[in-house]
Amino acid sequence: MRGPGRLVLLGHPVAHSLSPVFQNAALRSAGLPVVYDALDVPPEELDETLRALARSGSAGNVTVPHKQRAAAVCDRLTALASRVGAVNTFWCDPDGALVGDNTDVDGFDAAVRHLLGAAPDGLTVALVGSGGAAAAVLAAVETWNGARARLWGRTAGRAAALAKRYAPIAAVSERIEDALRGADLVVNATPVGLQGGDTPFPPALLPSGAAVLDLAYRRGGETPLVAAARMRGLRASDGMVMLVEQGALAFERWFGVQPDREAMWASLR
Ligand code: NAP
Repeated sequence: MRGPGRLVLLGHPVAHSLSPVFQNAALRSAGLPVVYDALDVPPEELDETLRALARSGSAGNVTVPHKQRAAAVCDRLTALASRVGAVNTFWCDPDGALVGDNTDVDGFDAAVRHLLGAAPDGLTVALVGSGGAAAAVLAAVETWNGARARLWGRTAGRAAALAKRYAPIAAVSERIEDALRGADLVVNATPVGLQGGDTPFPPALLPSGAAVLDLAYRRGGETPLVAAARMRGLRASDGMVMLVEQGALAFERWFGVQPDREAMWASLR
């Protein structure tokens, strides 16, 4: 089996991440003598860290706050990473080039299909947040037949700029109520709820019949938004399926084989 000799997750902070848990479970299950480590890298050290990893033939993932900067540092981007403007997975090609990809898009797509039990064609999506994860959501929505997204972000200019990049399937809503009204799928792409406590908007605004996907997740518990949606009888799930799926797709990029997804899930239980 081909593959890198070392795997790392670059973030700041990064100690809370579950990626080392399920990636190491997949590596053990495949009998690969490789360890996946989390590396806390401050922004000013990201460029040199990525270059050094490339020189040593390492590969890995990138998380908050480095995904956009990593896209600028890579020598080559896949079409999807280029479209999103962010890299969450990297490796080194045989010619020494540092290649950046984005598996968040297909991870999100898989999470939506899992939640709906159906193809997401024709959906009206209400998207809350306008950072890197929101960009990945829109890159998935634009591949769904007849789907469109209404975007609300607390920084209006950032939300408008993101919606413009994904026109004509995305439009910005000035009020969160307008984004949510009548939506088939509501997506939280903000960190609100990661630590418990709050929901990103009053749950009473959730449209009846909508499915709710919170990209935030909490090990061993529901996020406040997922709990509130389920209380209202709505289908809802947190970001765990997306997390594992983006990681499984990254594993495929590094080793050219499917990981043992059951081992990944078992390690998180
Ligand atoms: P990001 O680039 O930092 O963007 C965060 C967005 O959330 C920004 O639009 C920010 O608003 C908004 N925001 C932050 N705090 C807020 C608050 N208190 N109220 C309203 N909006 C707020 O981060 P990201 O990479 O997009 O990640 C967003 C979330 O998705 C995080 O929770 C991350 O853990 C999650 N995520 C999950 C997965 C997964 O696999 N499940 C993958 C990727 C991301 P401003 O524009 O005003 O700054």
